[in-house]
Amino acid sequence: MTVADFRFFTLDVVRTLRLGHSFLRVTFGGRSLADFRSGGYDQSLSLFLPPPHRDHTPLPSTDEDTWFAAWRAMPDEERPVMRSYTVREQRGTGTDAVEVDVDFVLHASASPASSWAGRAVPGHRIQAIGPAVAQNKSVRFRPPAGTDALLMYADETALPAAAAILERLPEGRQVTAWFEVPHPDDRLALPTRADADITWVVREDGTGRERTERLLEVVRSAHLPAAEAPYAWVAGESGTVRAVRRHLVKERSVDRRAVRFTGYWRLGASEEELLAQAYAGQAPSEEPTAEL
Ligand SMILES: Cc1cc2nc3c(=O)[nH]c(=O)nc-3n(C[C@H](O)[C@H](O)[C@H](O)COP(=O)(O)OP(=O)(O)OC[C@H]3O[C@@H](n4cnc5c(N)ncnc54)[C@H](O)[C@@H]3O)c2cc1C
Repeated sequence: MTVADFRFFTLDVVRTLRLGHSFLRVTFGGRSLADFRSGGYDQSLSLFLPPPHRDHTPLPSTDEDTWFAAWRAMPDEERPVMRSYTVREQRGTGTDAVEVDVDFVLHASASPASSWAGRAVPGHRIQAIGPAVAQNKSVRFRPPAGTDALLMYADETALPAAAAILERLPEGRQVTAWFEVPHPDDRLALPTRADADITWVVREDGTGRERTERLLEVVRSAHLPAAEAPYAWVAGESGTVRAVRRHLVKERSVDRRAVRFTGYWRLGASEEELLAQAYAGQAPSEEPTAEL
């Protein structure tokens, strides 16, 4: 795999659609998307989202060697924030009009990405680093050959990825999933041909630790079907992700190498802070996701 697996794209907002209490789908189009190649499943991309007083802030450089320094050198009040999101769906390729859906969680803190989505209207433009080949390392869901059951945990930020995974699973694949959301109306329909046993957990107020503990109670009490080679995909708030992984490995004897776990966000920390920690080697479960 080479750096050419990822490149910059220019994304124009085509329309938005409210999906549930906390979810807003933003559909993007634009000529550059002709070269966009989502690998499906939990394919992620890095979005550059302009500040509130701008409909678009072009990056000074999209050259693979110079973009990062040029982006960092922009004045704070003009610099777009870089955030990781999931390609919920790509429609069309090549010469067809290509559209890409990204499902944003509108969360309570007035944070840059969530706020950008809340004010997005057709005509707004952003940039992204996204996949130019379908086989790329930003698809993390990779069950090994011989996997006979899937275990999934996702909170609302990882629900778009979980939904895309479920949609692609073959008929009859055995899945046990726990999906945690902030509001009853966030229990979205999740089409799948898999044999999926989904438990929705609607989060209650409380500290991070209390929230994780309540979730773990539900996971602990679940009956897991017998399986020789289960594969677990665990994504969401970092603290909960670590706790679910620990439970699966220590209490359910899932092979630790068969657990793909990713912290999608962390209570009390912005994505800049997570990236800074990851680059400094302090947060092994948080992978820096800007790929160029
Ligand atoms: C690979 C990957 C894929 C992702 N896919 C998606 C996706 O498809 N949809 C999606 O909505 N998110 C997704 N995320 C998560 C998203 O990148 C983070 O939630 C991000 O922090 C949002 O940026 P922000 O500017 O809104 O908040 P930030 O500025 O990063 O954070 C500001 C504050 O808000 C808090 N915060 C961040 N996210 C949430 C949240 N969801 N609920 C409550 N508080 C929060 C932080 O703890 C912090 O205190 C993904 C993350 C990764 C790593």
